[in-house]
Amino acid sequence: MSKHKFYGKKRYYTLIFVLAVLIAAFVYSTATKTSIHGGVALEERAEDALRVHYIDVGQGDSELIELPNDEVMLIDAGENDKGGLVADYVRSQGIDKIDYLVGTHPHSDHIGGLDTVIDELEIGKIYMPRASSDTKTFSDVLDAVERKGLSVNSAKAGVEILNDGDLSVTFVAPVREAYKSLNNVSAIVKIVYKGSSFLFTGDAEEQAEGDITADVRADILKVGHHGSSTSSSWDFLDRVKPSCAVISCGEGNDYGHPHTETLEKLSDIGAAVYRTDLDGTVIIETQGDGYTVYTENSEENRGDNNYENQRK
Ligand SMILES: [Zn+2]
Repeated sequence: MSKHKFYGKKRYYTLIFVLAVLIAAFVYSTATKTSIHGGVALEERAEDALRVHYIDVGQGDSELIELPNDEVMLIDAGENDKGGLVADYVRSQGIDKIDYLVGTHPHSDHIGGLDTVIDELEIGKIYMPRASSDTKTFSDVLDAVERKGLSVNSAKAGVEILNDGDLSVTFVAPVREAYKSLNNVSAIVKIVYKGSSFLFTGDAEEQAEGDITADVRADILKVGHHGSSTSSSWDFLDRVKPSCAVISCGEGNDYGHPHTETLEKLSDIGAAVYRTDLDGTVIIETQGDGYTVYTENSEENRGDNNYENQRK
């Protein structure tokens, strides 16, 4: 008797039906797929558009932000061995000057690649929180700053990078000068462009999230600390109310990031989740109303999905 005989006729038809639905879903999803190959194949940024690249740097963070006023911001540059990759990526976008460079906090998975970026690209202003570390990684960054004849501006809650009415870029954290955990001194950047908003949280954990007094409401949240359960408290997510969440982490990382707890919370609040470990580099573009998400690895052009209606 073959195994198949265990399936009654009804069950067999159900199986065929399920398969047909799966095939239809697959065909539908591939119909709109367009590979962006690290973003380089994307069309030129529309005039007045804000484009954010969550660069796949493995376990770490790096976000390249093309502002609608044509200025460029870079938040973090991944680990020490990722600086070249980040600099190359930036240049591949036709950019050779970073107007605003932010090092969120002195951990190597964030500022490791900054020295290379500072050496290789033209830099305007640099912002870092008032926190130091006795690591070589940290002193390498300070050395690069010195080589370039630059100085570090203090990143802390209330510091405004720019504000021209339609566009504002502001630090909403750190609120305190010192925390037990270096993660909590993370500089948190909020960008508002007309009706769209982004929040970049570094590795800020629950305590730092709770200290923020500024309005943190944002459409798109760069999830804190690579999706660790030490960040993204309910209270914080309730204040941000993101419709889209991006997690920057490395495939098979040692920390188990992102943690299931965080993924469940994001699912519960109905946020669309993108992950650099699965999606590769994620690019989000807005003209100030709704936004379009492009991903690298899934080869899926989600440009047909305007998430305008998902905003809360
Ligand atoms: Zn980190």
